[in-house]
This record gives sequence, structure tokens and C-alpha cells, in this order.
Amino acid sequence: MTANEPSKPVDFIRTIVANDLEEGKNGGKVVTRFPPEPNGYLHIGHAKSICLNFGIANENAGGICHLRFDDTNPEKEDDEYIKKKKKDVKWLGFDWQKKLFFASDYFDKLFEMAKVLIKNGDAYVCGLSADEVREYRGTLTEPGRNSPNRDQSPEVNLDLFLRMRDGEFPDGKYILRAKIDMASPNINMRDPALYRIRRATHHQTGDKWCIYPTYDFTHCISDAIEGITHSLCTLEFEDHRPLYDWILNRLESELKQHPQQIEFSRLALDYTVVSKRKLITLVNRSVVAGWDDPRMPTISGLRRRGYTPESIRNFCSKIGITKSPNKVEIGFLEGCLREDLEKKALRAMAVLRPLKVVIENYPADKVEAITAQNHPQQPEFGSRTIHMSREVYIDREDFLEVAPNKKFKRLVTGKEVRLRNSYVIKCEEAIKDPDSGEIIELRCSYDENTLNANPEGRKVKGVIHWVSSNHCVKAEIRLYDRLFTQANPEDGGEFLDYINPNSLTVLKNCPVEPSLSSAGTGDTFQFERVGYFCKDQDSTPNYPVFNRAVTLRDSWAKISGAS
Ligand code: ATP
Ligand code: MG
Repeated sequence: MTANEPSKPVDFIRTIVANDLEEGKNGGKVVTRFPPEPNGYLHIGHAKSICLNFGIANENAGGICHLRFDDTNPEKEDDEYIKKKKKDVKWLGFDWQKKLFFASDYFDKLFEMAKVLIKNGDAYVCGLSADEVREYRGTLTEPGRNSPNRDQSPEVNLDLFLRMRDGEFPDGKYILRAKIDMASPNINMRDPALYRIRRATHHQTGDKWCIYPTYDFTHCISDAIEGITHSLCTLEFEDHRPLYDWILNRLESELKQHPQQIEFSRLALDYTVVSKRKLITLVNRSVVAGWDDPRMPTISGLRRRGYTPESIRNFCSKIGITKSPNKVEIGFLEGCLREDLEKKALRAMAVLRPLKVVIENYPADKVEAITAQNHPQQPEFGSRTIHMSREVYIDREDFLEVAPNKKFKRLVTGKEVRLRNSYVIKCEEAIKDPDSGEIIELRCSYDENTLNANPEGRKVKGVIHWVSSNHCVKAEIRLYDRLFTQANPEDGGEFLDYINPNSLTVLKNCPVEPSLSSAGTGDTFQFERVGYFCKDQDSTPNYPVFNRAVTLRDSWAKISGAS
């Protein structure tokens, strides 16, 4: 590979797929699937799985990745989640073409497959209660015990199973179980449940069924029906693989394909949680404003925060695919965003904590239109007009009466600084509130020969951002910090105890360039010297709202100290 070639991801799964292709396995096809359950929003962990499954399909000629909703738990699922998940997968840049499926599409087929198992003596209807089933299951050190129904004839089992479907029994009265081995060291193989009676209206099939197949029974058969070649899942399914293979082996004469299940490690991010149950808790307890709160690690939260699909895909590619624990620093994700926005985001000026500056020798009725480049390295991004006038706002952080050290390149009394894209100004006097002593205004002068130039002999080290007080709009700016105070909120104790009470700081009426009010929702800018910001959906024509996507540098400590 030459240095200029984009590096193609390599990992153990891609190696397996490449070897299979070379050996002519699966008729030279690559078919993967992404199988979310419609019971929550997609999060950054799902993005890893999406990038892997769609990535492998896209990298191989003729490869395809199906989107399949794994919808076997009707009580917890909802159509709304389906819509949101489809939107998120598309937004990430992936296309399932026409291959959109639901596990519930296969309920009839699954029912037939269960009957095949029953007829072959591989499954039976068990009348133990849920508690008894648990008790009979045994433990990691003790084998389980056989259900009293285990040796019933296929005829009896078939009759009971049909009556289960026909609604003759109350919920929980019977389950259909695979007849495998109650003494197996793998508890998943101790006659696992295949079907349960559950009177629940299903978002796809309505009230057609009162029995629903379990995940383990459904998943392998759905994969086989769709001709999946490589069924990629996270490591917690490793112990389910023997069951996946057992079911498909027993149904070999019915199903042509036997996909290969391969496991990889789940992604975890520090200072956040990605378990769906915990994310739901954050939403239900109003810790955050919703699934798409910009502090959430959901795709919709990240999008609202200002993440780009490219930055998330790049992140997923960089973290790679292995079987080792995959806990990643949140700073790494932010770095991927910064890298992308540095190239793409238009520049603009915004003042987060305004301090008024009156330029005393600048005529009160004068206004100058100045052309400012939208991006320092990308002339094709064009330019915009900003206005200079006698009164401007600068950031409070950019002024101190006395420089604390030589590194301080901002404005101090008696010294000069350049207003970005404009003149060099000098601070003559800081006006204070007589009661509080707080600095409320600066009196400055400007050198009219310095517009956007640095004449010989004058050295002005500092450049600060500013906005003209008569040519600005006021905006709300939302600054985000980590959602949790602990890197591992899930380790020990209740994760809700570690919520960061300062994860959101709202700054109101911040002066920003007027051009920002016409930006579209989701547009991202670099507010010069401040960070990357994304226009939020809460904006109104008169009052734009911006979310801080990420700071300019990896400097959490400094930023949170300042806020
Ligand atoms: P949770 O355990 O949080 O409820 P899940 O695994 O049940 O998540 P699904 O909707 O079933 O969520 O996930 C769809 C796919 O995404 C599965 O193949 C799953 O393995 C994968 N996935 C889920 N979470 C992660 C993660 N953190 N890292 C990588 N892949 C993940
Ligand atoms: Mg799951």
C-alpha cells in the first residue's frame, strides 16, 4: 500500500470475511445485517456496529447490509423508535437499499419452524411456572433438573403448542422449550425457552399473535431466512452461539443458509453510559431534556450537539474491532469531531460573556463594512461582511487590568490588542461599578492606520474576537460538560449518584454576528477563539440558540473552570 492510499480498515472480522470470499464460501456473497430492537434510540455503541456491518458490506463488491428490527418484545417496543432508528442509520451515511426487515415478518415462518422442532422431538411444551423454571435450571456449579414435561410425546406437545397459539391458556401458563441438555455447563443450553404466551398488541402484527418467539429462537432463523453470511454481534452473545448453531443445525433441512456468528467487544465511553436501560432512566427522570439532548451519547443527541456523520464514522474506524474491552475516552470522540469541523466549519464571531468597549476616537456616526474570510484555509468558503463601529463587545475573559504574566496576549490597561479582522485598539481606562468594583466598560482608542494590516514597527501580539454592539443579534449559547462526574459511572453504586450538576451552562443574550441568525438548524460554526457551535432546533428567527459541539482544544479542565 502506498502512503496516499486511504487505509482500508483491517480487523479479525474483515479477515474472516476476506478468507471466506477467497475460499468461495457462501457463493462469493457478503450479506450482513444490523439488528436493533425498536425499544430506544441508537447510540454511539450502535454506531460501531452499524459502521462494521454496513462497512463490510460496502467494502465488498455486491455486498449488502440489511436493516432488521428485532421486534420480539412488543410491550417495550414502539413505532416511533423505528422511525428514529431509520433516520439515524441514514444520517450516518448508510443505505440498506430495499433490505428493510422486521423479525415479525417471520412470525409465521418461525411458528412453522417451532412445529418442525416439536415433531422431531427437539422441543416440548413445559408447564412449569417461571419460578420453577428458574429453580429447575440449576446454577453455574450445579446441573439443572429435567422438566416433568420433557418426555411428553410430540403429539401432546404439538397439540399444546397449537392451543397456546389459539389463546386457550393464560399468559405464563406454558412455554415452548428446546430439548437440549439440562446438565450443559452452558446455561443457555439448558432447555431454553423458544416461545412464550404474552397477550400484547404488537406494533407490526397487531393482535394476530398471543405467543411470541424469544430472541434466541428468532435471531438465528431470521438470519438464515435472509441469507445472512456473517452475523456480527457483541460479546455477550458468545455464550448464545452454541444455541444459535444448535437451532440452525436442527432445522438444516428447512433453512438453506447457516450464517456464521462472530462476536466483537461492545464500545463503552467514559463519563457516560450506553446501556439502553440507563439512557431511558436519564430521559424518564428528566436528568436530560430528552433522547436527543446534546449531552446524550445517542446519535440524535450527538447530531444535535453538532457531530457530523463523518466524525462518527471516522471515530468508529479508528477504535477498530477486537474482542478486547473497548472503553474509549470521550476526548477521543471529541478529537474526531474537532478534526472534521476544523476543515468544514465556517468561522464567525460571538461573544459569550460581553464587556462593552467604547472606542472614544472613533466617530459616533461612522460604520465600516469589513470583509471577513469564512475560513482561513478554504477561500472557496467565501467571505461575509461584518461591521465596525464606536461600540463593540469583547469577551470579559479577554481583559485584565494588569497582565498576570508574559503569556497573557489579550487586552490590559494601557496596552494594545487587535480586534480580529479590524483595527488595533488600546485600552485607556477600565470603568468600574462604584458599588461592586466590577468592570462594566472599557474606554479605548484605535489607530486608524491599522485596519487588517500590521504596519512595520508595530508589534501587537494579541488578537481578540468582538462584535459591534449596533450590528449584532443576541443569542442563547449552551455550553455542555460531561454528563457524569466519574469516568466509570457504572462501577460501584448507583449511576444516578454521579450526575454532573453542571453539565449544562446556559448563557443568554450573547452578542453574535447577525449572519448567524440566518443559519439553518444543524449548521456548525467555529466561533473564533471560542469553540465549535451548532445551531439548535430551539432557535427562533429573533433568538438563535447555539450548542457548543466541542471546544477548540482538548481542555475540559480549563473550560469548566472558566464557566
Ligand atoms: P442494550 O444492551 O443497551 O439494550 P442492545 O444490544 O440490546 O443494547 P440492540 O438494539 O439489540 O441493543 O442492538 C443492536 C445491535 O447493536 C446489536 O447487534 C448489538 O450487539 C449492537 N450494539 C449494541 N450496543 C453496542 C455497543 N455498545 N457497542 C457495539 N455494538 C453494540
Ligand atoms: Mg439486544
